[in-house]
Amino acid sequence: MNTQKESLILGIDLGGTKILTAVIDAQGSLRARDHSVTPAAKGPQAVIQAIRESAKRSFEQASMDVSWVDAVGIGAPGPSNPETGVLFTSPNLPGWQDVDLVRILEEQFGKKVYLINDANAAALAEYRFGAARGLQHVIYITVSTGIGGGIIIDGRLYTGAVGTAAELGHMTIDLDGPRCNCGNFGCWETLASGTALARRARLRIEEGASTAILDHAAGEIEKVDAKIIQAAAEEGDLLANELISRTGFYLGVGLANLINMFNPQMIVIGGGVSNIGDRIFNPAYQTAKDRAYAAAYAAVTFTRAKLGRNSGVLGAAAHALDKTSVLERS
Ligand SMILES: [Zn+2]
Repeated sequence: MNTQKESLILGIDLGGTKILTAVIDAQGSLRARDHSVTPAAKGPQAVIQAIRESAKRSFEQASMDVSWVDAVGIGAPGPSNPETGVLFTSPNLPGWQDVDLVRILEEQFGKKVYLINDANAAALAEYRFGAARGLQHVIYITVSTGIGGGIIIDGRLYTGAVGTAAELGHMTIDLDGPRCNCGNFGCWETLASGTALARRARLRIEEGASTAILDHAAGEIEKVDAKIIQAAAEEGDLLANELISRTGFYLGVGLANLINMFNPQMIVIGGGVSNIGDRIFNPAYQTAKDRAYAAAYAAVTFTRAKLGRNSGVLGAAAHALDKTSVLERS
């Protein structure tokens, strides 16, 4: 039994490569945290077993058991329906197709389980505990191999009719752009993600462009990624700087769309590509300024995400707290 009066949640961040579990209180403090590798290739059953073992270690660390928590919140990659608890598909979890994740975990833990998309979880975490605390209209984007996002409208996470809202990375930016994994062409993430940046660099290298990018990848073109291009840019490589600037331009076109559509107070930006910093953000913000409504642009602040790799567990916990209505609102 939970002898204390406070609310505790087991937060789970299920990723394609790692599983994080944590025991979290209503203020967003982590009481315990466990990190393990996702046995993604072994399929759903092995992954669910790994979640259970990680949760057990978290509880042991906090000298608790599952009876101490009020509910369980899980963030998972890919589109899911938070109402029915079904994870439709997940590009990072092979073999997952319409998995009834919530029902399975509820049977295992004997607690209510609430499912949320991983990017939505990060958005909720930044809104509740991080960079956008106290605001009402917030867009969160994460720019890494793809682009994900979350939308807070009037202080609430907007998830849409069946929970797939805020697939921001899949808004069309270029009608004739590259084919996206989703089947569409010219999606934002095919133009402004780390993958897009690397693809453009490889193309230019293959065309014979003069650049030091390949030296940073030990001469192996398939190793060229956003981080390597960033390193070359920092040493003054002209092509690397040009490519980052171009990626920033596309980032800015998408930001302008979001600003015009949602008139947010803040856009919080996370993900590995955001580590490139001013080289990508200066052209992005300039493009957003050039293209967005002036009044809407003047109202928005851009901020880097604050919560780092805990954003997933914190957001999953915040979602569960919201659902159980035990959150102490400040
Ligand atoms: Zn797409």
